[in-house]
Amino acid sequence: MKERLNRFMRGRYGADELSRFILVLFVICTVANMFTRLNIFYAVSLGLLVVSYYRMFSRDHAARFAENQKYLSIKNKLLSKLGLTERQRQQRKNYHIYRCPACGQKIRIPRGKGKICITCPKCGQEFKRKS
Ligand SMILES: [Zn+2]
Repeated sequence: MKERLNRFMRGRYGADELSRFILVLFVICTVANMFTRLNIFYAVSLGLLVVSYYRMFSRDHAARFAENQKYLSIKNKLLSKLGLTERQRQQRKNYHIYRCPACGQKIRIPRGKGKICITCPKCGQEFKRKS
């Protein structure tokens, strides 16, 4: 039995980040369907399940890989717009970002230095802020 399953899965694409995301959407739609009893959620969740199985059992690795890359690039763009990437979170922990009151230039100040006088590197405006 295990041997047969192994043979069946050989050369198949398997799971990736996109299929995990599709499964999360599937769970959300299934739960939404349970609470609302709307057929649209049922139809969407069924569709998502079909797509995720199709991708996992696919032998066209190049196409599936391209889909996953596209998903990852969209995801990263969204996360960075919301300021949620790992790097941005790290930055916020260690730095304050202030805007120059005169020209609007963003200025990064290390945290925990008390009240300091900041000189804008762009226009030379000075202003005091807590770091
Ligand atoms: Zn300035």
